Amino acid sequence: MEFEPWMLLVFPLFFGMGWLAARIDIKDLLSESHALPQSYFQGLNFLLNEQQDKAIEAFIEVVKVDPQTVELHFALGSLFRRRGEVDRALRMHHNLVDRADLDNDKRQQAIFELAQDYLKAGILDRAETLFRELEKTPYGKPSLEFLLELFQKEHDWLKAIEVAQRLSVVSGESHGKQASFFYCELASDEIAAGDAAAARAHLQQALEVCPEAVRASMMLGDLAAGEGKLEEAIAIWKNVEAQDAQYLPLVAERLLNAYRDLEREAEGIALLRGYLTKYHSVDLMNVVFDGVLKNEGSSAAYQLVREELQRNPTLIGLDKLLEARLLEVPMERRADVELVKDLVHKRTRNLASYHCGHCGFKARQFYWHCPACQAWDSYPPRRTEETGIQI
Ligand SMILES: [Zn+2]
Repeated sequence: MEFEPWMLLVFPLFFGMGWLAARIDIKDLLSESHALPQSYFQGLNFLLNEQQDKAIEAFIEVVKVDPQTVELHFALGSLFRRRGEVDRALRMHHNLVDRADLDNDKRQQAIFELAQDYLKAGILDRAETLFRELEKTPYGKPSLEFLLELFQKEHDWLKAIEVAQRLSVVSGESHGKQASFFYCELASDEIAAGDAAAARAHLQQALEVCPEAVRASMMLGDLAAGEGKLEEAIAIWKNVEAQDAQYLPLVAERLLNAYRDLEREAEGIALLRGYLTKYHSVDLMNVVFDGVLKNEGSSAAYQLVREELQRNPTLIGLDKLLEARLLEVPMERRADVELVKDLVHKRTRNLASYHCGHCGFKARQFYWHCPACQAWDSYPPRRTEETGIQI
């Protein structure tokens, strides 16, 4: 391509267009920044320099001058709360609630945030009052959820039951199972205080709101057994099979003891053997093993574990088998079996724990309420080896 004189015009033209575009952008930017009050930039500056208190004052100024910055207040308020700076969150949200010109939606949002600040700060009575104020607003359901959390923290089980019931109505999802646990907590306090009649009434209510409430049946059975009504206790514990059979291992020992006290141990063992055939469980096997060993001798106990191990091979079962074998072998071969048993037992110690399905917390004993994550009914009533959880 040859050089043409008109080409000389192209370069100044492009340069001029670029200059014009840049001027337009800068003009826009300047007009936008003039629209924001000076305090906004001051606040931003303070925030970037980690001077949060000065930043809050500056932002409060901004919202006085420019109501459009309300969202900024909400964002900062929840940021402070998340960082654990609850005093600052409270100041931001209080300032919003106190504004006379805030529309109704934003006021409700501000009250909802403020209530969460109080909850986080542990000022529970104020949090409760504010959450209750919001019940008939679009924040009604989350407010009830927070109230449920609050009353559990306070161990105020009656209020927790009331909120769980209202939440069932508002959300359309049943909170009956949760309410049944609150009734059981109430009953547990009453049993500790020696008021068996009140406890029994609350346990019946637990079964009304949740017929599958195994914990309520266990406690009702315990109350009956405590009063010497063993037949009644057995009948209540036997209900667990219909409620949720996987919980049978939790009542197996109670059942066997009650039958033993009634001098009908063989009947108890037969019942539990029936359960074991239908619902495999190492805990159930352990109880039946102890019963058979006492009642029928070591070779019957060994036979039981052997059959069970063939049906459901587990390390915990093998541990039990070796225990039974130990009772049978002659003295001279005992040391070998003992050595193997110790090795297997060391391995099964970890496999024999319970495992929270919610947070993964492992525990030697069974919990209805996880001590780590506070979830209810999060432990399957089976050992980790049986649930297939890798450890
Ligand atoms: Zn947990």
